[in-house]
Amino acid sequence: MNKTVQSLQRRLIALGFPLPEHGADGDPGGETITAMNSALNELEALRGEKPPPPKPEPSASIVPADWMPPAKVDRIICHWTAGAHKASEFDRSHYHILIEGDGKLVRGIPSIKLNEAPARKGYAVHTLNCNSGSIGVSLCCMGGSHEQPFNPGKYPVTRKQWDALTSAVADLCRCYGIKITDKTVLSHAEVQNNLGIQQRGKWDFTRLAFDPSIVGAKACGDKLRAEASAKL
Ligand SMILES: [Zn+2]
Repeated sequence: MNKTVQSLQRRLIALGFPLPEHGADGDPGGETITAMNSALNELEALRGEKPPPPKPEPSASIVPADWMPPAKVDRIICHWTAGAHKASEFDRSHYHILIEGDGKLVRGIPSIKLNEAPARKGYAVHTLNCNSGSIGVSLCCMGGSHEQPFNPGKYPVTRKQWDALTSAVADLCRCYGIKITDKTVLSHAEVQNNLGIQQRGKWDFTRLAFDPSIVGAKACGDKLRAEASAKL
């Protein structure tokens, strides 16, 4: 009596493979070999029928496709809300996409389509005199912060938010065919210099609370563009 073979035979019977003459007798006879062969054939057939594993999404793909309706837009302007780590209804009315403290994306109320030039009623109002053709993405953070001396307050921008931002920017660039330059992917703090459109002392972003070595609008913007480019 071979216990291992008997146990194997029992399992084959349980799986529905016939062992006609001996049943689970512990004898490694011809029926067991035949049953094992047919089990293997069935497993191989099953494997053959399986669809190929799905293609992995590009690492940057985090913006749901239905948040990106067809639209003619030229640039992405990145902000912070100067609020808490959660998106408020007020925040949602001003931006197309918000990114909460844990990196979670929240859809804003206006559709990107409404900011297509000329911007239509209900468009996202995020950048003074620069909303037509501009997608507005905002990090939920920096409420109660100060630029000089720098104090990020109770809701500092987090690395998770930043990483989600660079992924979202890459998605938007891919979807809308936006090339990454300092005039097409920029922070609010760069708008005045890079586009020549005056703003009112906006400093999102001239500081990144999680990386104090990056100081100034250009340094923050260059970091944004380099990391988003790497995800394209
Ligand atoms: Zn802003």
